[in-house]
Amino acid sequence: MLLKERDFEAVALEPMTEEFDEVRLGAGLSHKIAATLSGTGWIGRNALVITKPFGSAVWLTTALTDAPLETGMPVDESQCGSCAACVESCPWTRKYIKRAARRKL
Ligand code: SF4
Repeated sequence: MLLKERDFEAVALEPMTEEFDEVRLGAGLSHKIAATLSGTGWIGRNALVITKPFGSAVWLTTALTDAPLETGMPVDESQCGSCAACVESCPWTRKYIKRAARRKL
């Protein structure tokens, strides 16, 4: 890895689907949270990371490093606004949202 060749600590974390927790709907490290903290995008109503250039058509991988890299501003608010196109068009998204709402009770 390029960062290690330059004497920085670096770990690449691939998606860990085999460690997926069905109750928490997540794995050991949330790539979605890492994406929002790095300013990559926000978590949309469809529960995917939404990026301005590519929408949700992205594949997330996280790299942890002590290299002094420039970072984006964390995104802590959804930018879906009044849009609900994914919810209205996808029965599985509606089902996911209903299930998540039940867990908050
Ligand atoms: S609500 Fe609209 S902007 Fe947000 S994830 Fe769904 S389709 Fe995308």
